[in-house]
Amino acid sequence: MSRILIIEDEESIADLEKDYLELSGFEVQTETRGDSGLQTALNKDFDLIILDLMLPGVDGFEVCRKIRASKDVPILMVSAKKDDIDKIRGLGLGADDYMTKPFSPSELVARVKAHMARYERLVGANPRSNDIVEIRGLKIDKTARRVYIDGVEKNFTTKEFDLLTFLAENPNHVFSKEELFRRIWNMESVGDIATVTVHIKKIREKVEYDTSKPQYIETIWGVGYRFKI
Ligand code: CA
Repeated sequence: MSRILIIEDEESIADLEKDYLELSGFEVQTETRGDSGLQTALNKDFDLIILDLMLPGVDGFEVCRKIRASKDVPILMVSAKKDDIDKIRGLGLGADDYMTKPFSPSELVARVKAHMARYERLVGANPRSNDIVEIRGLKIDKTARRVYIDGVEKNFTTKEFDLLTFLAENPNHVFSKEELFRRIWNMESVGDIATVTVHIKKIREKVEYDTSKPQYIETIWGVGYRFKI
């Protein structure tokens, strides 16, 4: 059974979310403070975390950052203010989804199920999936080192292929240019990190339908890049 942690200080909201998710077959634990929620998130395994932004103890920004520093679990952030959601996106905290309050419980359940399905596809038990990375219309064949968009093969240089594959295999993590340079070019980041920018641009020209609105590799301003799932 999939396990969900709800970190929410308004108990009526937490209870409502819990009821609906349990009716949908999930096992749910709730925490009403940021600090206790963070401890629970770090000490136990969950399949998804629903995280409120304004919390007593430690706020949702900090909770998200600290969970993300050590765990891959999908995080769905909720806030009463649209401005906060924009701020969360801008900070590149590694949240996987965002919802503005008030939302209907059925909308929440639908979002949670969508994340579970996506996550299961990514970490699926099919052994052959280790060699194939498939996300929406993008397919990367790691063994043959080939990339297809909607079934059409695109030519990639070695470094473009390595960079795209690395990002696609670590979705929803924000990587700085320095870190990508270090990992892909395999040397200390004393070189020219503009190389990373140039490669990202070339990859986007090949994989994105509209390079001004990337659906795969997102720019997190002032931080770096993130592969969206
Ligand atoms: Ca709150």
